[in-house]
Amino acid sequence: MLFDLPNQPTLYAALLARDERYDGHAFVCVSSTGVFCRLTCPARKPKAENCTFYATVGECIEAGFRACKRCHPLQAAAMFDPTIGALLHALHERPDRRWSEQHVEQLGYDLSTVRRSFKRQFGMTFLEMARHRRIREGFETLAVGGKVITAQLEASFESASAFRAAFAAAANFFARRWQRACRPPPWRP
Ligand SMILES: [Zn+2]
Repeated sequence: MLFDLPNQPTLYAALLARDERYDGHAFVCVSSTGVFCRLTCPARKPKAENCTFYATVGECIEAGFRACKRCHPLQAAAMFDPTIGALLHALHERPDRRWSEQHVEQLGYDLSTVRRSFKRQFGMTFLEMARHRRIREGFETLAVGGKVITAQLEASFESASAFRAAFAAAANFFARRWQRACRPPPWRP
């Protein structure tokens, strides 16, 4: 589903107005909190300079943002599609797991259906989403001062070198997030 985002002032006005017409079509990433929201989020509105807008949940997650716990930007899709709902719930229960195709199959889902549904709804596959989530969790354990070994265990990496590789990738996300914040927003012309 392609939707050309309007410019930043229009989207920011829609955010202030909690305009429902953008629900599912535009999301706001807030650099001061690290969270992404629906434009209709009931939380206090962030300053314009802290907002970056994207058309898909996948882009927000890839940029290193986590879903808001107040407006639940993934929930509309979860309600619309029970398979998505069940897998998001499973991921929520086990964010530390190295999710693989086998896990998805063990839960009784058809891989290609799951891949299609997630791509359509979020612009990202379930396994990509799970990987981003796991790396972020590991990174955040470190950020709050956890010992490296704790973070390593919590994130269930199979080895220290795998952990270091993932950590480097996470550092990369955050670096990208800063770069993106400094760049003009990614509207399609
Ligand atoms: Zn929110």
